[in-house]
Amino acid sequence: NKQVLLRDYVTGFPKEDDMVLTTSSTAPEKVPEGSNAVLVKNLYLSCDPYMRGRMSKPLHKSYTDAFTPGSVITGYGVCKVVDSGHPNFKAGDLVWGMIGWEEFSLISMPEALIKIKYTDVPLSYYTGILGMPGLTAYAGFHEICSPKKGETVYVSAASGAVGQLVGQFAKLMGCYVVGSAGTKEKVDLLKNKFGFDDAFNYKEEPDLTAALKRCFPNGIDIYFENVGGAMLDAVLLNMRDHGRIAVCGLISQYNLTKQDSVHNLFCLITKRIRMQGFIEPDFKHLYPQFLELVIQYIRDGKLVYVEDVVEGIEKAPSALIGLFSGRNVGKQVVLVARE
Ligand code: NDP
Repeated sequence: NKQVLLRDYVTGFPKEDDMVLTTSSTAPEKVPEGSNAVLVKNLYLSCDPYMRGRMSKPLHKSYTDAFTPGSVITGYGVCKVVDSGHPNFKAGDLVWGMIGWEEFSLISMPEALIKIKYTDVPLSYYTGILGMPGLTAYAGFHEICSPKKGETVYVSAASGAVGQLVGQFAKLMGCYVVGSAGTKEKVDLLKNKFGFDDAFNYKEEPDLTAALKRCFPNGIDIYFENVGGAMLDAVLLNMRDHGRIAVCGLISQYNLTKQDSVHNLFCLITKRIRMQGFIEPDFKHLYPQFLELVIQYIRDGKLVYVEDVVEGIEKAPSALIGLFSGRNVGKQVVLVARE
């Protein structure tokens, strides 16, 4: 059973060798007698930015636990049940949920696994558009941003797992949508594949405030925040009165030992902006309605989706750290095994 372990707590930018690939001589073959665990064969692993927080020594209580040095990394994934001691699952079921970064996982609390209902889309979609990042985009946009037709929407890290979907949800709502990303290839995707009205490469803009002013001459109604730092400061100066900022993530800050200061918070008062953080687990109750809506959008071609799939569990560490330099183009997934 190949496994990826965390070597030790990480400070600063994560490196590939902060994780260790090991092979245990025995792989579990059956669920232990009398247990209600489920044994799964892992097919896809999801690489998500929040996992960086779990690599740090825990200083504050967070909504996710830190990884334990020397133990298997855990994250979302798609898998197939091999053996089950639980009445809700049987061998052959396809499920998604929290699993280990390994070829086979014994899940002791399988109640949290979700059975895969639709298989007319790639199974990897359950790590993204039909999984946690998809629900994040859907709930974050519709529940936190209070969008209205015709409003202006700005999305940062816009070509990624969450951003590409936020932009498309906003277009479906009839908004004017601009995204930013870190390469020309990604900017082209935003404009030509995801249907954003405009897009720019933030790495090539010497003045972010001016870039946003150019894209939004009359200001931004909604900012879907994925990055933080200098981008947030530039956005605050370009927001319209009564705008909304949904703080989904602050990826530019995750590897810093001291977070950047935000200088323009006074705009929150003068422009009466509502800025609200949120986490996807608070919206699990919306998953069933989200799934029905989004699967239909995919089938109708109303939502498109780009993922970056690398093959082999050996590549999982480099795929994960690649998120922090923008190496991924679309949702980063690792193919561990085919069904
Ligand atoms: P992505 O697929 O967007 O991958 C991360 C991307 O972030 C990279 O490709 C890179 O794109 C960009 N990035 C990396 N470092 C920086 C930086 N220093 N400055 C600006 N951009 C950077 O990831 P996700 O879509 O999965 O996640 C997007 C955000 O949403 C993250 O902040 C994440 O933590 C958050 N999130 C929050 C959730 C919640 O419940 N609140 C749930 C899921 C995600 P580029 O080339 O464009 O720079």
